[in-house]
Amino acid sequence: MNELELTGRARTHVVELSQPNCVVHYEVAASFLSMRDAAAYDGIDLVARSSFRDFNSQMAIWNRKWAGEKPLYDRNSQPLERAKLGDYEAVDAILYWSAIPGGSRHHWGSDIDLIDAAAVPAGYAVQLIPEEYAPNGIFARLSQWLDANMQRYGFFRPYRTNRGGVSPEPWHLSYAAVSLPALESLSLSMLRQVIDASSIAGKPQVLARLPEIYTRFMLAIDGPQ
Ligand SMILES: [Zn+2]
Repeated sequence: MNELELTGRARTHVVELSQPNCVVHYEVAASFLSMRDAAAYDGIDLVARSSFRDFNSQMAIWNRKWAGEKPLYDRNSQPLERAKLGDYEAVDAILYWSAIPGGSRHHWGSDIDLIDAAAVPAGYAVQLIPEEYAPNGIFARLSQWLDANMQRYGFFRPYRTNRGGVSPEPWHLSYAAVSLPALESLSLSMLRQVIDASSIAGKPQVLARLPEIYTRFMLAIDGPQ
């Protein structure tokens, strides 16, 4: 991937699928669809809640959270009040659950947030919170199925455990053959340039902490097992 693709400012590396509706890296599509077929055989309707996301969409999420227009959560998914947080704490609270624009794995098209559409009770709004994927949650079966099968299709969970950065996200799968080289190619200086040229809210606070953000929230992931 080139610099524009790595940082979510191009769509030249992704394709749009209609069944299920999602946008993924062209090298991911076949494996994802095979995994979806296998899941369907076991009664699971594997659907992408979120797939490719570009820089501007990620920045819109960031800016709304920074402004307190979109809820912030602590590590235990408990809501936080933006007005009570200093800027330093706000950066942390956003990054526990949302990536820095330019540094989101969703820019690559290799990473997908998955749900089992067949397991969603009528009238229930999916939240993508760890409780839904826990042993008593609505996606417990999906989670177990992914544990047992995702590796065969080339996927892994980069946010499986808490490594001090991004909170565990059992719904977030990554296609190793695309995402491992992508992470190696995306340098700190590349990220700095993109952030510097953007209209991200809290830019001075972000730039001042960028090496830490890069190490803690982008590099510190769980690799394929
Ligand atoms: Zn995700």
